[in-house]
Amino acid sequence: MSQTHFPVEVEAPDISAYRRGNTGVDYVTTFDSGTAGPHAMLSAVVHGNELCGAIILDWLLRAGVRPLRGRLTLAFMNVEAYQRFDPAAPSASRFVDEDFNRLWAQDVLDGPRHSSELRRARALRPLVDAIDVLLDIHSMQQASAPLMLCGPVLKGRELALALGAPVHVVVDAGHAAGKRMRDYGAFIDPASARNALLVECGQHWERNAERVAWQTTWRFLRHLGVVDAALAARQIEESVPAQRLVRVTEAVIASSPSFRFAKPFSGMEVVPREGDVIAWDGDQAVRAPYDNCVLVMPVPNNVKTGLTAVRLGRLETR
Ligand SMILES: [Zn+2]
Repeated sequence: MSQTHFPVEVEAPDISAYRRGNTGVDYVTTFDSGTAGPHAMLSAVVHGNELCGAIILDWLLRAGVRPLRGRLTLAFMNVEAYQRFDPAAPSASRFVDEDFNRLWAQDVLDGPRHSSELRRARALRPLVDAIDVLLDIHSMQQASAPLMLCGPVLKGRELALALGAPVHVVVDAGHAAGKRMRDYGAFIDPASARNALLVECGQHWERNAERVAWQTTWRFLRHLGVVDAALAARQIEESVPAQRLVRVTEAVIASSPSFRFAKPFSGMEVVPREGDVIAWDGDQAVRAPYDNCVLVMPVPNNVKTGLTAVRLGRLETR
């Protein structure tokens, strides 16, 4: 497998102390400030091998961080997969039966199928229904630059830009293979004020992903006014580059087993000219459809035929 050469620099925290929580759903804890304000949720380990979110939630819980106004929910999502994490086989615990982040369509949640992930998603659903704003913390298989997936609706983009980091904000419509939690229900209803972001903090097991998750979390909580501004200010690195907005226009689907990229790309590289060769799908060249084409989350090696090898995005002026 291509991804196993990434070293595991971080440790999966023991989260067993958080099992009971206080919401009636295991591994979910809500703190209520007792004053009016938004109900913010931070979610971790939607994918069981993505450690940075678990590390951040563990830090917040151990530090006793509490909301100043509104409510703050800290949720470990696919715990069954996370508990299978093994640094010797770090890719194996992404999920137990299926991808937890492709189940968030009403008909799937209400449907007849059963899986470990569906059981957990159904248990968590009332809690997700009760929140106002979600930050779903993820990481990536490849060593890509961090990015915020803000979904297809303007309010997601506005929230991502209000946070000021990470640099790359990706506007996309989600996955054909199934709906992500960040695209669930009211989160993509333009008429609703409820909102969600998904941050990809870097490579799953690199130390820097922790830092990106920490920075994004504090920016999120500060923007919502959920935490003390002075406390947040002490955590946040203020001098960051200007954000860049990338609109995903299409997915490149591998149609041959010999799909290969023209160069080793890790993600968010900009291909300067329309017509430049990005990859070879068998003997067919895959070319940039426009100037300044951004490669979003490429899967460099061994992409399965019929699956997405990379998504292409256009740089937009804000
Ligand atoms: Zn993920």
